[in-house]
Amino acid sequence: MSAAPVASRLWALSQFVLKVHSRCDLACDHCYMYEHADQSWRRRPKAMSLGTLRTAAARIAEHATRHGLRSVRVVIHGGEPLLLGPVVLREMLACLRAVIDPVTTLDLRMQTNGVLLSEAFCDVLAEHHVMVGVSLDGDRAANDLHRRYANGASSYDKVRKALALLRRPEYRRIYAGILCTIDVRADPIAVYEALLAEEPPRLDLLLPHATWDAPPLRPDGDPTPYATWLRRIHDRWTADGRPVPIRMFDSVLSTAVGGPSGGEQLGLDPVDLAVVETDGEWEQGDSLKITFEGGAATGMTVFTHSVDDVAALPELVRRQGGIAQLSAECQACPVVRQCGGGLFAHRFRTGRDFDNPSVFCADLKEFILAMNGSVTLPAVSDADAAESALPDDLIDQIGSGFGDEATLRYLADTQLLIAIDLLSKVSERSGGRHAYAAEGWKVLEWLDEAAPGAAGTVLAHPYVRAWAVRCLLGGETGRDDVGYLNSLAAAAALRAGQGVDLRVPVFAGRLHLPTVGTVHLPSPTTGVAEFSATGSGFTVRAGACVVAVDDLATVGAAWQPARLLETDGLAVLIEDGDPYRDCHQWAPAERISAAEDLRWREHVTRAWRLIRDDAAEYVPGLRLGLRTVAPLVADPGGLMRASTSRDAFGSVASVLAEPAELAVILVHEFQHGKLGALLDLCELLDPSRTERFVIPWRADPRPVEGVLQGTYAHIAVADMWRRRADQSAKARVHYRDYRAWSEAGLDVLRRSGALTAPGARLVDAMARAVAGWAD
Ligand code: SF4
Repeated sequence: MSAAPVASRLWALSQFVLKVHSRCDLACDHCYMYEHADQSWRRRPKAMSLGTLRTAAARIAEHATRHGLRSVRVVIHGGEPLLLGPVVLREMLACLRAVIDPVTTLDLRMQTNGVLLSEAFCDVLAEHHVMVGVSLDGDRAANDLHRRYANGASSYDKVRKALALLRRPEYRRIYAGILCTIDVRADPIAVYEALLAEEPPRLDLLLPHATWDAPPLRPDGDPTPYATWLRRIHDRWTADGRPVPIRMFDSVLSTAVGGPSGGEQLGLDPVDLAVVETDGEWEQGDSLKITFEGGAATGMTVFTHSVDDVAALPELVRRQGGIAQLSAECQACPVVRQCGGGLFAHRFRTGRDFDNPSVFCADLKEFILAMNGSVTLPAVSDADAAESALPDDLIDQIGSGFGDEATLRYLADTQLLIAIDLLSKVSERSGGRHAYAAEGWKVLEWLDEAAPGAAGTVLAHPYVRAWAVRCLLGGETGRDDVGYLNSLAAAAALRAGQGVDLRVPVFAGRLHLPTVGTVHLPSPTTGVAEFSATGSGFTVRAGACVVAVDDLATVGAAWQPARLLETDGLAVLIEDGDPYRDCHQWAPAERISAAEDLRWREHVTRAWRLIRDDAAEYVPGLRLGLRTVAPLVADPGGLMRASTSRDAFGSVASVLAEPAELAVILVHEFQHGKLGALLDLCELLDPSRTERFVIPWRADPRPVEGVLQGTYAHIAVADMWRRRADQSAKARVHYRDYRAWSEAGLDVLRRSGALTAPGARLVDAMARAVAGWAD
């Protein structure tokens, strides 16, 4: 099965909040449902009927099928969903599973105030694999500021009882985490310690709901009390070694290196969510209820409109628009890519609607800048700031066409951090049928401490990021992509010589263990197998089929060790087993034969010697950065095929070429990898410049990033042929052509008006390299 087309994925929604009960047993005074502008709850039925729920589920299933979504998240919400009682709740959950499970993976969640949570409820929730989030605002003093019954009584003890229940071994697997709304009058460290004591798998710190019409509490006129409050927790959390994921902090860390924000509070992730009210009305994110009466309304219902209709609403389309949909102030902001203007609802001001920065703007800016200063990676948003945070000569080193060891080590290290960050986001999706992937995350965390070299080698494999991106984008592959996390853990355990038991996904009879090898089961099994590492070998059991490998280095009918080629300082995998090597432009070759393997080794070895002898300046970069060469299916007409992937730093895919040509291919394609890694770290191009440019090496006009990539790679190709120019007329012709293209590309880039200051510095360095060549 192929992935759904990118265009169709862009407009798909994958998160749905079902308001199954619109009343609450608490009367928290910061609640957006009852205490803010929108009062539509008053006219709605108290509870969603089973018929309405079934229709909503059918709409979600229809949408998942149409867009090929591999998973959808459905959050059972209220009011307070436990007011339904366990019997009705069970009926509803069974209905959701019955309708949605057959078409996609259903990640079921519930958000509750917890006061009614009992064993009976937990049994129902565990039966249907519902991950439960509980609202608690910290210690007793903080929680009692808002989370009270209508008669003023505290809810604190009952919520703590609920959390104790979720910590019990039989329910621990459905404990999703705690959601805490910030009140700056509360002591942040007391809040943090109280929350940590509940051992949540995850913490969410939410800014209280406010708009420019109803600004947040700012005691004593302090302009940034929320930044101060968050910084105190952040500093303590960092000093503690980040003992629990905190979404807001992880979001800032992720967006600092160009990753997704993973939520709507911060960042530029496209809006991905719709709400169904108890009467079946579709609504936008329900935080919009704080803006004005009907602020979240769509005028659509599950009975009359599909999810596609909702996704096509101008209000939602606008929120897919990245920076362009933000206010002018935000667009000019140095942290715009990390902040994204904050939560959409927090931008509202009567008269200007949402065309404003967040009402928490000053806090967000101060906090994000402070966090950026506390991590080693630069923010990607402000080109100048990013440039100054990078190693001094990074841009010049890359611009020269080569890059010394320190430069390539820096790029490789930052690429590894990006991959790890994406991997942690994939681990958050290990619910439902992927629940077993949580085992892999735990093993990787353990190995990260016990054998960091082994875990690091596996996670630095180029296709780990390609895999993580595939998981986060969704789309049907037929494989259990999230479960592959366990394959990474299994590979790391084998590299570390550690014994572990894990469940691992098998697809079409194959189990791939990155950097270690591929198991080929005798039957084309697809599903989940039992994997046991024994230290020096392993056993895989898939149904009746058992494969035992005692010696990882020995090829067998069922075991193909990774094809590592080590020659003259180069260590590279001839990669013909990784399932995510299909991220290149051309189809990957299937498992190559022993004879083909020998030819690849010979050609890569000779190509490497040619590079070493003719163009030694490229050697440090390739030695440190090039990790895999993936054979491609040959073009039927014999045309050359070679490719790299922005999501697979350190990989080159190619058909088997003669050594002299392969040397040029390796240098050329690896240039794309280096430039892609630099683009991950700093803004070289103005993202608002979307026009296309005519260039001499392509018939079709290219976006400016394509011009930059092409020019950068062509300079290296020209350089390679230049160095051979005295050897053949062919080399001289190639040099002339590629040099002319490089100069034309540099000219287009300089005239494009799309270069940021770092971009201009890079292009200047590239031009200097070309100008330095004697004719
Ligand atoms: S910090 Fe303020 S100006 Fe910057 S993106 Fe966020 S809300 Fe907009």
